[in-house]
Amino acid sequence: MSNLPLQQWIKPEVLDQAPYRIRLSGYRHKMNQNESPWDWPEQIKKEVTNRLAEVEWNRYPPLVPLELRARLAEYLRLSPEMILLGKGSNEVLAALTKVVLRPGDRMCTLAPTFPVYRMLGEQMQSQIITSDLDSAYAVDEADLLPKTAAARLTILCNPNSPTGNLMSLDLIEKVAATAEGLVIVDEAYYDFSRVTAIGLLDKYPNLVVTRTFSKACGLAGFRLGYAVMHSELAVQAQKGLLPYNIDVPSLIAGQTILDYRQLVDDHAGNIVQERDRMINRLIELTGVRTWPSQANFFLLETPAGPGETFSALAGKGILVRDVSAYPGCSNAVRVTVGAPHENDALIDVVAELA
Ligand code: PMP
Repeated sequence: MSNLPLQQWIKPEVLDQAPYRIRLSGYRHKMNQNESPWDWPEQIKKEVTNRLAEVEWNRYPPLVPLELRARLAEYLRLSPEMILLGKGSNEVLAALTKVVLRPGDRMCTLAPTFPVYRMLGEQMQSQIITSDLDSAYAVDEADLLPKTAAARLTILCNPNSPTGNLMSLDLIEKVAATAEGLVIVDEAYYDFSRVTAIGLLDKYPNLVVTRTFSKACGLAGFRLGYAVMHSELAVQAQKGLLPYNIDVPSLIAGQTILDYRQLVDDHAGNIVQERDRMINRLIELTGVRTWPSQANFFLLETPAGPGETFSALAGKGILVRDVSAYPGCSNAVRVTVGAPHENDALIDVVAELA
């Protein structure tokens, strides 16, 4: 307990929140944060650092990162005015919640899902409404639609984390068509599912799609993400970001790797193959359960339970995510698909627990 009068200084919604935490231990194989297992090749890193050495470090970055926005617009085949860039997609999500939610407003999301949505909504003093996934981690459409229809803001993660399930575009369209408020579809794992709601943006101006450079693009060490939406909405959402939010190194890294999209797509294709190979091997083991996933991670249950599974893997230098505190995931850990030798190492440990 603190001796400080924190109640006088800090909002109760924040005092009541648990800090965002991640369980760490020393590791050889990092399979806990859905990052890419492949670092960028030396020659491409040099290209980034050479470009960084050429610019003036004493100058602010551009107020609106026009060059990166234009390059992204070309890749997405959208107008640049529809793109809002942030320090990771987290920052774009924070800006959107900030400009949309007033105290008491309803914000709807799934349970379980990425916990940052709730954290942001609570800090805006909104009322969090959740639609529980069923026992197979599928979305319950009949439960979801009335909730999203009545929400000022809906945030859907597709594919969802930590479960890996994918909602159909038909359902997303129904949500957008029936919602009076805004609907954000977080496509952080799009590169693995290849299913996107971007095609619905023309028809539904209340729809926003967010993406990140942190996962398949292998740039989590820089902080870069973006949202695409109607251009008039983007002007308003921009007001939720602080000026000069994205630093020059992140801009340069983002611009550079857009020249190497093929490498990103090839790696994502390998991860998808590895994911399916792992799941096929793991489900043959007695008492081991996994769930189908359209992302670069999947949920895993072993007869040992989540705590022991985490510890047994950590003992062999393999770090996974203990998600047993997430609603509906009490027996599970989340495994990020790694490079083939890392995946083999994980399968060997799980085989000993079966
Ligand atoms: N959305 C989802 C579903 C995520 O899993 C993450 C990262 N854990 C993010 C958004 C945020 O990613 P970033 O801020 O690195 O773009």
